[in-house]
Amino acid sequence: MPDKLADMRTIKFLLHEVLKLEELTQYPYYEDHSRETLDMAADTAYQLAHEVFWPSYQEFDQEGAQFDGHKVAVPKAMHEIWKQCAEGGWIGPNVSYDDGGQQFPITIHALACFLFNCGNTAAAMYLGLTYGAAHLIKTFGSKELQDLYMAKLFAGQYAGTMVLTEPDTGTSVGDMTTTASKSPDGDYYLLRGNKRFISGGDHDLTENIIHAVLARTEGAPPGIKGLSLFIVPKYRVNGDGSIGEWNDVTTTGIEHKMGLKGSATASLTFGDKGDCRAWLVGELNHGLRYMFELMNMARVFTGMQAVGVASAAYHCALEYSRTRLQGRDITSRDPLEPQIPIIQHPDVRLMLLKQRAVVEGCLGLFLYCARVHDQEHAVTDPEEQQRLHMLLEMLTPCCKAYGSDAAFESIRLAIQCHGGSGYSEEYPVAQMLRDCKVFSIYEGANGIQALDLLGRKVPMKGGMALQALNAEVSKTIAEAKELAPLKDLADKIESLQNEVVQATMHLGMLGLSGKVNQYLCNATAYLEMFSHLAISWQLLMQAVVAQKVLDAGSTEENFYRGKIETARCYAGYNVPHGIATAQMLTADERTALDFKPEWF
Ligand SMILES: Cc1cc2nc3c(=O)[nH]c(=O)nc-3n(C[C@H](O)[C@H](O)[C@H](O)COP(=O)(O)OP(=O)(O)OC[C@H]3O[C@@H](n4cnc5c(N)ncnc54)[C@H](O)[C@@H]3O)c2cc1C
Repeated sequence: MPDKLADMRTIKFLLHEVLKLEELTQYPYYEDHSRETLDMAADTAYQLAHEVFWPSYQEFDQEGAQFDGHKVAVPKAMHEIWKQCAEGGWIGPNVSYDDGGQQFPITIHALACFLFNCGNTAAAMYLGLTYGAAHLIKTFGSKELQDLYMAKLFAGQYAGTMVLTEPDTGTSVGDMTTTASKSPDGDYYLLRGNKRFISGGDHDLTENIIHAVLARTEGAPPGIKGLSLFIVPKYRVNGDGSIGEWNDVTTTGIEHKMGLKGSATASLTFGDKGDCRAWLVGELNHGLRYMFELMNMARVFTGMQAVGVASAAYHCALEYSRTRLQGRDITSRDPLEPQIPIIQHPDVRLMLLKQRAVVEGCLGLFLYCARVHDQEHAVTDPEEQQRLHMLLEMLTPCCKAYGSDAAFESIRLAIQCHGGSGYSEEYPVAQMLRDCKVFSIYEGANGIQALDLLGRKVPMKGGMALQALNAEVSKTIAEAKELAPLKDLADKIESLQNEVVQATMHLGMLGLSGKVNQYLCNATAYLEMFSHLAISWQLLMQAVVAQKVLDAGSTEENFYRGKIETARCYAGYNVPHGIATAQMLTADERTALDFKPEWF
């Protein structure tokens, strides 16, 4: 078992040297914070991840969530994890003082999410969902809903869920059939329907569970425009805040999953007895819009979850590779020479380096996005707000989809470093691979993220969002070119940037000429190419900082040189791949479109 789940020196480097998080404290909302409080929060989150989440990681997998036909029990260790997180204010560390929080930047919340997922990803699920439900109520709910539920959710007295999926409706959200009809006295709605795959849908962690449910009211328009958002408590809450009657929400089962077993994924029936009471959030038919408005950060957080697991797996692989003795240097012919640690074999070192590049590149990107979100909410200039918002919109699908796919691939390499031991459940990396898979599926499957990037984000505001991002990439490239040791790396990344621009323009022409299917048929390849550029850019940004510190005579040569060479490795292996993809896109590859289903 590794002693380390994440590299805190890298995290401090990202927070302070790259992202300059402390600069946020010039804005009134964050003025009570300082580098010390930000560091204290980061260190405490790591300590919790390491000492509270991590010890029960494998236990969660073996014990799983249990359903006895009536109720669901979480793994035993979850109770202590929940208690400590609730007491420490970790359900929503960014929540305002007025709402009982500590008013940290969301960057700190995102970092905590990453660290808790390094420690125990199934356990961290319960926190994220509760924050999500509370945040919806806070942003769109009435005063009554806020008074009844919000403080208790943020404090961990209640837990929350996000309820969209139905047995026959996953991606195609607009086809959902759960209905809500006005009660006879008009005070609330009566919900009826079956939902499936609901994370934290039932458990014994808290005295109540507050479901944020999408449903369709009578006469609502078809499709996504007819969905409304409702708050549906498991137990009704009386006016004085005490727990009232059971609200006709029945758990019919939990999923037997390949991973994330400690997270209860429930099937729920609402209104089996005809008395499931639901309270409307905001306006009728705006439900999906409300959820979408919070979606950017939710999707960045999904990437965080995946890369959190990949970080823990990388540190497992690193420790294993330093201690596992096997074979000798390729030039040695003496069988009596002592064996060497496998980290000394270039192939193993490359596998480690690729994992490190994914973890540090993706973490850099996610924290950058969270920082952009914080900045967007701190500044008052509407033009600057819009620019920042567009950056976040462009990068979100890449965080979610590339983050989760690259994390899975990175954990595959962590297993490979372990050889046969990696395939054995004695080591945690096999579980990590199983746990990580879901992040490419939920919160919008990755294929849908790719369609979102190419179909919605790229053409957004006449291409202005893409231009805003390109300007940021160009700025970093120009800065790197000023530093002689980074010039070749900057040139390489610029060549990919040029190819991405060409491919985008080519696809854009297809879209404009009405060939929509052709435009979108390689959306996943487009997202991967785009992500290679985004991650190369992020690692270049880190390399620029590192080179400047080295030029100024830093004594931490190994640390900073490691940053530069990680950027070089990522670009070295991925820029050619990105360029080849761009060429495939401009050559109008369309096999996927033309291959008829009956040819299978
Ligand atoms: C562990 C776990 C936890 C979950 N937690 C929650 C939760 O808390 N709340 C909740 O509401 N849901 C939850 N889900 C459900 C999850 O969001 C859905 O599984 C996901 O949206 C995909 O839907 P589906 O499973 O029906 O797959 P489908 O929609 O059937 O998709 C199958 C495949 O087809 C592709 N596809 C589908 N439609 C299209 C299209 N139009 N164009 C191109 N490709 C398409 C998809 O990309 C995917 O690869 C969870 C799922 C799991 C496994």
